[in-house]
Amino acid sequence: MARAKKSFDKELMYEKIMPTNLNKGAEPENPDENNQEGKNDKILYNLTEKLVLEKLEATMKKMNCCRCDRCKEDIAALSLNNLKPMYVVASKEEINNKINESEELGVEVTTAVIKAVLTVRKNPRH
Ligand SMILES: [Zn+2]
Repeated sequence: MARAKKSFDKELMYEKIMPTNLNKGAEPENPDENNQEGKNDKILYNLTEKLVLEKLEATMKKMNCCRCDRCKEDIAALSLNNLKPMYVVASKEEINNKINESEELGVEVTTAVIKAVLTVRKNPRH
């Protein structure tokens, strides 16, 4: 009896000491997935870039610019080089709110995109 009790206690001790929980936690499944796909996760994001890409298509259409991928990319690059980046760390929802809030940035971006369209339309690289 006494022996059995002792060994039982030992097993309990080992269970507490052995890092069984750590092993479970080390499996990369759950934590990673949560980080990448959780809705409330904060991401590093350049608001300027998002705005440029949003305004690109409509501006090119309005200005009768060639809308092939090459011109689109040239205009995006030109616009972004002429604008200050505006990085935020926020959730996707917060990012959308910030974009709607920042009218000033919107005007700056529109101006830069228009200038870029004028440049590329005058001298397309194809
Ligand atoms: Zn083109």
